[in-house]
Amino acid sequence: MALWTDFKREKILVDGRWLDAGSGAVVDVSNPATGERLGSIPNAGRAETKAAIEAAHAAFPAWSARTAAERAELLRALAAAITENKDALAELLTREQGKPLAEAKGEVGASAAYILWFAEEARRVYGDVIPSPWADRRILVTKEPVGVVAAITPWNFPSSMLARKIGPALAAGCTVVAKPATQTPYSALAWGVLAEKVGIPAGVINIVTGSASQIGEELTSNPLVRKLTFTGSTSVGKVLIKQCADTVKKVSMELGGNAPFLVFDDADLDRAVEGAMAAKFRNAGQTCVCTNRFYVQSGIYDAFIERLSAATAKLRVGDGLEDGTVQGPLIDDKAVAKVEELVADARDRGGRVTTGGGRHSLGQSFFEPTVIADATPEMKLAREEIFGPVAPVFRFEHEDQVIAAANATEYGLACYFYTKDLGRAFRVSERLKYGIVGINEGLVTTEVAPFGGVKESGFGSEGSKYGIQDYVDTKYVCVGGLGL
Ligand code: NAP
Repeated sequence: MALWTDFKREKILVDGRWLDAGSGAVVDVSNPATGERLGSIPNAGRAETKAAIEAAHAAFPAWSARTAAERAELLRALAAAITENKDALAELLTREQGKPLAEAKGEVGASAAYILWFAEEARRVYGDVIPSPWADRRILVTKEPVGVVAAITPWNFPSSMLARKIGPALAAGCTVVAKPATQTPYSALAWGVLAEKVGIPAGVINIVTGSASQIGEELTSNPLVRKLTFTGSTSVGKVLIKQCADTVKKVSMELGGNAPFLVFDDADLDRAVEGAMAAKFRNAGQTCVCTNRFYVQSGIYDAFIERLSAATAKLRVGDGLEDGTVQGPLIDDKAVAKVEELVADARDRGGRVTTGGGRHSLGQSFFEPTVIADATPEMKLAREEIFGPVAPVFRFEHEDQVIAAANATEYGLACYFYTKDLGRAFRVSERLKYGIVGINEGLVTTEVAPFGGVKESGFGSEGSKYGIQDYVDTKYVCVGGLGL
């Protein structure tokens, strides 16, 4: 049985070769639960990134010329290799990221599911034959792989965020240069180990680590890169969109969120609290679809606070590798400081902490699961992404009022609401300006559905039949002179 150390590579992958940075410089990586040094990774920059892009460019003709069935077979083998090594990959993920082992296994399982899904989609990249306005001409539409894809991913889902990009890219016939987050590079480098293992040709997947700005500048300015897919913060996303403008790259952006979670008086309260726990505390609140704002109608407000606080107080905080842990540490001390600041601001503005409220006695970057009642729109956490285990709960009276409040943000990724009224379910869903809506459900992500935001949460969809469309160009072919 494989061990997590079998997948820990401390080199970058360029053209099938595992290399150090040209300068030999490295960056240390540590375990957020213990503060211990896990290892290091090359501190690469523009030169290594350029070499990786050239390798991906060189590998593109042969990879894209393979039949869809051949690419699908390799992707199926990749999905099988992930599943076979799920435990080792999950342990590696928990050690670098901090999430509980059960969640890490869930994420690795999701990675395999995305790769398998796109193995299947590889064979369904259909074109069209359009009725021609000319008797002697025929109009064909084909879909072709865009070419070299640059993929930049965040630290909160270091395995599955890359699966959503590598899967459709390879399925469509594209080659990839990936840049993982510096704090969680090993789950991404493991993709290189797995790709080698199943026989994906050298140069099809390249992985560089190191200076975000240098790697980002090369990826966005190099004309050989034809598409950038980014998951991360809205602020970095905006920089990358601008940088891609000069070479007019195809761009897709999965950015930040500020998810509202609405509970109407007629909701099933038990179900709403269960959904609230999942939509708030997964990955210690560090997901882009985590609830940032709970809005609860006044008739059930007190009951909701009571039940949510009781459930929150029971969450067991600890090292993700320990049995029974349901909440790990935050990614680093900066993240804790930000959450502390938001809680202090909420307290100053009249927020009532019903459970938690501060750093956890375990030290490191552990934070207590927290509920804040009597939240108001003036509080910073009404506007800013909390990215931590803090649940502010606002009170509302009317449907129109809560829809306006829920939409009063520049973000538009996920939202959730609970009601038993079918008319309200459709009415509210249609008025919420979000890319993803969970009705009576707090966990909605699946490889078969399109995941993506609107407004400043980005554009493009990952997963589903739509997920491959960003990796292909549409070509119109007019066949004339048919003399019919
Ligand atoms: P981040 O700071 O934007 O970093 C994301 C990635 O971008 C990292 O690999 C980072 O590298 C890199 N990066 C930073 N500055 C760069 C630059 N100038 N040029 C090129 N790359 C650059 O975000 P994060 O803190 O890792 O992740 C949390 C954010 O991601 C949250 O806002 C969350 O909502 C969002 N997110 C969105 C989704 C979604 O699907 N919509 C999913 C997950 C997370 P370094 O690590 O080396 O700095």
